[in-house]
Amino acid sequence: MRAGKLKHFCVRICTHHLTHAARSAGGLLAAAFVLAALTLMITPAETRGIVAQPREGHALWSHPPDVGKSPESVREFVAKCKRANIDTIVMDIKGMSGEIYWRSKKFPQAIAKGYESFDVLEHLTREAHAQGIKVDAWLVDFAEGERSAAFREHPEWAMLNPDGTTTASETLGVAKRHYAYVWMCPARRPGYTDQWLLPMIEEIATNYAVDSIHHDYVRYPGDVAPEGYCFCDYCLKHIPRYAMLSYETRPDERYQVRHIQEHIEANWSDVTMLPAGWQQRDRREKADYILNGRSIPGGPPDMRYYFYEYRVHQIDTFVREAHERIQKINPRIKTSAAVFKNPLQSGRFIGQRWHEWSRWLDVYMPMTYRSFFSGSFEDYLEHYTETTVRQIEWTRGEKPLYAGLASTYLYREEMQPLEDLRERVNELKNLPATDATSRADKAREISNTYDALRVRLAQFAPERERDIGLLVTGVIADGSRAATPEAIDKLVAALLQLRRDLPPGFCPPEKLARAIEAARRAKPDGIVIFSAGNLTIEKLWPTLETAFKR
Ligand SMILES: [Zn+2]
Repeated sequence: MRAGKLKHFCVRICTHHLTHAARSAGGLLAAAFVLAALTLMITPAETRGIVAQPREGHALWSHPPDVGKSPESVREFVAKCKRANIDTIVMDIKGMSGEIYWRSKKFPQAIAKGYESFDVLEHLTREAHAQGIKVDAWLVDFAEGERSAAFREHPEWAMLNPDGTTTASETLGVAKRHYAYVWMCPARRPGYTDQWLLPMIEEIATNYAVDSIHHDYVRYPGDVAPEGYCFCDYCLKHIPRYAMLSYETRPDERYQVRHIQEHIEANWSDVTMLPAGWQQRDRREKADYILNGRSIPGGPPDMRYYFYEYRVHQIDTFVREAHERIQKINPRIKTSAAVFKNPLQSGRFIGQRWHEWSRWLDVYMPMTYRSFFSGSFEDYLEHYTETTVRQIEWTRGEKPLYAGLASTYLYREEMQPLEDLRERVNELKNLPATDATSRADKAREISNTYDALRVRLAQFAPERERDIGLLVTGVIADGSRAATPEAIDKLVAALLQLRRDLPPGFCPPEKLARAIEAARRAKPDGIVIFSAGNLTIEKLWPTLETAFKR
């Protein structure tokens, strides 16, 4: 049941009991008095519609640099959250590279550099609780860095693709950027899940006063090769076993389809699907069969259905186990999760069928970011409302759902010229000094791109526009023929500085306010925002103060 309905239900029950008590007391006067009191106390409030209104939750995804490394800086951050009416700080304590931000006794080798003596989690829980703010300990579950302690010590725990290599062999985007993360196999036991991740969660639940454990990256990789993993030795053995594609007790027996029914797939009941000689096949052949095989000869290539089911089962199992272990240690600690916008799609692509997690999860926090939608900002506002409505339907309102939004992606139109300019300047940097033609082309591109940025910059930070304008002019003069590496580096640095500290107004505050309104139209139980650091860069904290005012 959703929190809203529950509260409404209670009000009605209480009314009923009071009336009943008054009647059985027998005194008409007493009954009349109680009824009058009820009329006075409840009716006006109910007609104003304020009785059953639950409080909208406000959560904020935050990172260790946001809180600093001293008790004073943590206190300042908490005060800022308090002013912005944030009631849950979701703090990253296990990052994308596998680095952790608590003083772990079991995993000291994973503690982030510079955090050996400052325990972010301990300071934050103390300061936040003093202000009535909850702390969710946020873990990047299945991604690790290619140089992380877990992968260094246990390379055999990594997910493998059909070529037998890890996700660090993949590339991103048209520029084929190196992917620096190694995803770990959720299935393998003993392995990453039961030897590293679950023990970490247990350690936090045992030693820290956190309110929730927050799952993120609780899935298979999605931005690189969403269907390419995992084909490690363990999974090659267990995918066919989980789907029971042959009999373990009589592994050599094969029952072929007896073509009795007219429709070929209607003859599916006792088929042993695993091809003969399975054991002798290599990783690529096995993976190819699991992805492209047919469960019935002559039928559709449907074998990957079992592959999807297996992956969903592995992620489900981890979410369940984490919940059970946390409950055993401290039943007051809850579980929340950052999940993708559509659980049917994420079930199929990344093993994350999250709308079925109500038994093991206390708060759903779908990341319904604009980056996952095409179209204009106005289109996004409607998509955001509709998607949130559907998310509440998918979860049957069984657990509170916080509509997740990321501030940065709201500003695609404002940010794009700056990102484009940074990219063009970096391209120029990589051009040889002798390639005059390409340099002249690049100079023209830089000039055009800067034109798109200049107007907005001049409006909100005229001095910075002048400074950057001079650097641009210096770099593009004479078709960039005379641009020295030092001049290009200076421009690169100035643009990076601008990206890290945007002038107030550059990101129009009304866009954030309107996105929050769009979330509210779907009536979620709360709103969760990514992220504290970005709000600082984008100068949007005051907007949040207004939008989240109680
Ligand atoms: Zn595996």
